[in-house]
Amino acid sequence: MGWGVRFARSWDTREMRAALGSSLGLMLSLSCQPAVQVRPDVISSGDSSPVDAQASDSPPSFDASHCGTSAAAALDALTLDYRLWDGEAPPPVDIPWPVAPQCGTLSSTAPWLVLSGDGATRAARIDVASLASGLHRAALELRASDGSVFATKAATVRLFRAPRARTDRRVMVVGYDGARPDAVEAARTPVLDFLRRRAAQSFDARTQLTTQTVSAPGWMSTLTGVDPSRHRVEANGQYAARDGTHRTFVARAVDAGLRAVVATAWEEVITQIVEQSLPAAMVDRHFQLDPFAARWLAQRARTGSERLYFVHLNDPDAAGHSTGFSLDNPRYIEAIEGCDRNLGVLLDGVLSRPSVANEDWLFVLTTDHGGRGTTHGPLDDDNRRIWFVASGPSVTPEALGAGVSHMDTAPTVLQWLGVAIESAWALQGTARAR
Ligand SMILES: [Zn+2]
Repeated sequence: MGWGVRFARSWDTREMRAALGSSLGLMLSLSCQPAVQVRPDVISSGDSSPVDAQASDSPPSFDASHCGTSAAAALDALTLDYRLWDGEAPPPVDIPWPVAPQCGTLSSTAPWLVLSGDGATRAARIDVASLASGLHRAALELRASDGSVFATKAATVRLFRAPRARTDRRVMVVGYDGARPDAVEAARTPVLDFLRRRAAQSFDARTQLTTQTVSAPGWMSTLTGVDPSRHRVEANGQYAARDGTHRTFVARAVDAGLRAVVATAWEEVITQIVEQSLPAAMVDRHFQLDPFAARWLAQRARTGSERLYFVHLNDPDAAGHSTGFSLDNPRYIEAIEGCDRNLGVLLDGVLSRPSVANEDWLFVLTTDHGGRGTTHGPLDDDNRRIWFVASGPSVTPEALGAGVSHMDTAPTVLQWLGVAIESAWALQGTARAR
């Protein structure tokens, strides 16, 4: 502790004092104080002492400025950010603590963020059992005896539990345009990784199989549950031949009296694919670039009473067309990682709902096609191999076998919402979560 006290004192007296009176010194004083958060009494004592006070026989008074920097460094090194399913509990986090006891008291702002130990053997753990589904925030705080805070560390827990009753069912569908499964698996995607820990899923699924692998037939098949030989949309921008009897899951939900919200960065999704005939009071539509579409939908999910939310994210497709649909292309990988950040925003919206603990949420994620080079459309595995994830606190984890398609999205969504699927609809997909 001695070197720290002397270091802090000598810096305070020589450097700071030399600078006092100059405008630079004033700036240093102003900029240092808020960052270090030293105790006012310590500043006063140091500034009023003569420069040669260190030479006296009495021990130097305690200087808390070192506490501030050491404690901040110790707290900064921690990671207290968790995404948890029911039944998961993270191990305690050791807190390396190079700070003297005089530096103050470490405390938690919430009962679920539990501190143990003292001296150099401290730990923090999450009391998951005390938490309900939701987005929980707290902090560790290091306080001086006068109550001032030296340093803080935020802690966040995002927790999904299966509700006791599964009667209030809700769905969020997140579509990534043109996201190859190998690139999705190669990218850093902590939010998707979380969803995949409790999911029925396949990363060896296939697109619709009757026409070129482009967006309009891909999303039409995803939303209707039938292939282009039935819905008759075989190219982007060409909807004249569409067979409207094959309705999207948005329309089927509305037909059953459920309201929906749709956001997209590709306008055809809300102007062509999701039926224009649906009443505006039943379907709210939004068109904006990916991060803004996600934030808008997240805000709707935070407060909305709708049962169905669908967002289409376009950035992987845009990056693939400009620089290549390849896991070796950093821009393509970055676009997929951007989708993951947007997915985090969307999940935070759901977790922020006051009623989330009583709701049974399902998250369905898929894509419309793969790609190779800077294009897509051919009928080969690079373009037709896709992925499908159905995740939620009530979902039984399952590695889905062969035959998984993005056409599974419609029956999965409709069955989850309790919409009776009629044989006359001739859905070609399979419900993958119950
Ligand atoms: Zn596409």
